[in-house]
Amino acid sequence: MNSVTVRVPAKVNLQLAVGPLRDDGFHDLVNVFHAVSIFDEVTATARTGMSVRVEGDSADQVPEDDDNLAVQAALALAGHAGRSYGVSLVIRKSIPVAGGMAGGSADAAAALVACNELWGLGLPPDDLLEIAADLGSDVPFALLGGTAVGTGRGERLTSLEVGGTLHWVFALADGGLSTARVYAECDRTREATGEQIAWPRASDPLLAALREGDAKALGAELVNDLQPAALALRPSLARTLEAGRERGALGALVSGSGPTCAFLAESEAHAEELALSLGAAGVARDVITAHGPVPGPTVV
Ligand code: ATP
Repeated sequence: MNSVTVRVPAKVNLQLAVGPLRDDGFHDLVNVFHAVSIFDEVTATARTGMSVRVEGDSADQVPEDDDNLAVQAALALAGHAGRSYGVSLVIRKSIPVAGGMAGGSADAAAALVACNELWGLGLPPDDLLEIAADLGSDVPFALLGGTAVGTGRGERLTSLEVGGTLHWVFALADGGLSTARVYAECDRTREATGEQIAWPRASDPLLAALREGDAKALGAELVNDLQPAALALRPSLARTLEAGRERGALGALVSGSGPTCAFLAESEAHAEELALSLGAAGVARDVITAHGPVPGPTVV
């Protein structure tokens, strides 16, 4: 086999509970991840040496060297196998860059699956998950897909059953937000206000709403502890969220560290309507619809 293409979805966080800052600089999290139908594609082709090319939406903001998370994933996999394999990676991006939808982590997961196949390594999912956890907190979920609750840094995952398809609208912003800056802003305001930080716990009503596929109940339970920090760094997002609520979204929140905003709709038709109306309101660079949960990386 000379070439393998893998399609990989973006994620939105349905609950992101951020615990106290740990000694190692990370936070303990409860992170309910949900994979949605916005996809990047990664093609791995056999060659000597490593190279990467990025095409599509905001490709100019993604590094085309060893800083690219997909290249780091390929190097980590080759290291695990104890061989110096080569590969040329081409990434076609649709997931917004630095948008809080874990596009880089998705590309890393896709590269692990593609290179495992291309190089004929046949590593089982557990080995890939272990390599993924070293690459970043969101990479294990990107390998798993579907809907899952993550604890620790977000890397200890339990899959969740969802009782139906959820329909979403995403408002994409101009320019990204750095995840590190958003966490730093969250820590800074918590310190300044002397806020008591509770140990993060999964929300029982949110898990019940997911199990039952009850979009209305779920909409009321969506919560993101990073949202105040994202709004402090990008105040215009408050207007975007409000515009969605006014137009009948069942729930509205900043996705991960932002600046993408996510809106839950009642149905596919409602999502289309909401997207049109939000697009016309001029509160986002682009407005797209998607559904979830969807499976993780898939060879196409
Ligand atoms: P998260 O939701 O996991 O916090 P994000 O969606 O906000 O992440 P990414 O799109 O993953 O952010 O990108 C964050 C930064 O990582 C980008 O600014 C970019 O410079 C760098 N990066 C490295 N590799 C990639 C990649 N393959 N795709 C996108 N960004 C990448």
